Amino acid sequence: MRDSRETFVNHAFVAGSPVGHSRSPLIHRHWLNAFGLAGDYSKLEISPDDFPAFMETLHNGTSGFCGGNITIPHKETACRLSDRPDELCLELGAANTLWFEGGEIQATNTDGFGFAANLDQQAPGWDKQETAVVLGAGGASRAIIQAVRDRGFKSIRVVNRTLDKARELADRFGEKVSAHPLEALGEVITGAGLFINTTSLGMKGASAPQIDFSPLSAGAIVTDIVYVPLLTPFLQQAEKQGFKTVDGLGMLLHQAAPGFEKWFGKQPVVDAELRQIIIDDMDRHG
Ligand code: NAP
Repeated sequence: MRDSRETFVNHAFVAGSPVGHSRSPLIHRHWLNAFGLAGDYSKLEISPDDFPAFMETLHNGTSGFCGGNITIPHKETACRLSDRPDELCLELGAANTLWFEGGEIQATNTDGFGFAANLDQQAPGWDKQETAVVLGAGGASRAIIQAVRDRGFKSIRVVNRTLDKARELADRFGEKVSAHPLEALGEVITGAGLFINTTSLGMKGASAPQIDFSPLSAGAIVTDIVYVPLLTPFLQQAEKQGFKTVDGLGMLLHQAAPGFEKWFGKQPVVDAELRQIIIDDMDRHG
């Protein structure tokens, strides 16, 4: 039996602070239209002080939402305050998608799914490689390390300016993950089949160091989760050197799909039309 929290409202949210930049409403409203569903998806600007009280409205069924996305800085609190965080979420300590089931708030983290689904679509077979290099050890890198490990990579080399943060991730994600200083990048990428930039280097015109990708294995893939601009400095350099590249926009689009399915009951597709909607918005707003 559904309890008061499992309402039939078709209204989902993204909660964060700041949340004004979020493109999630464009994505979910596109899918709602595509399926001809009555429903909506709203941005909620919620401060860290107010977030526990918001979670309480989800608990007591007074929020008026069927579920939603959680973004910075609430992902950790959402994981902690939900009733049933799944294994992915618990290992990361961060949730980005909430929904109701069995009268409880369920939580997961779909960032790793989004990352892997983007590569599945743009570079099928990417997970046959054995060694990955992850540049960066910030919030976004965690779900990516988890996803790459769970796809069976034998070695994941995390390279970060602050070595201690890379070490913390190597401890968290197990023996296949090793930590390296930025100065070792040239050596660390040797023979790797997948290079992933998870740092903010190159974002919105910010400079990025030149990386010589030639020590990567032949047929290696270079991907960047920064998607403004789409063709980042790292991707430009890798393309010039003849490597297959995959931009980060698809990760944003694919990570949204599991939530939509939970809230609205339909499996959405990530296609060229949706991609163009977001690119047009980026052209308008940067
Ligand atoms: P974060 O937690 O702030 O981490 C930033 C990372 O960048 C850290 O590893 C940091 O190194 C590194 N970094 C920053 N400036 C640097 C510099 N000058 N030199 C060397 N390393 C530097 O950020 P985040 O949340 O992980 O996000 C990172 C990027 O991913 C952002 O551009 C974000 O927009 C993008 N992103 C994209 C998606 C998507 O769906 N495509 C999803 C999430 C995030 P230190 O640890 O040494 O500071």
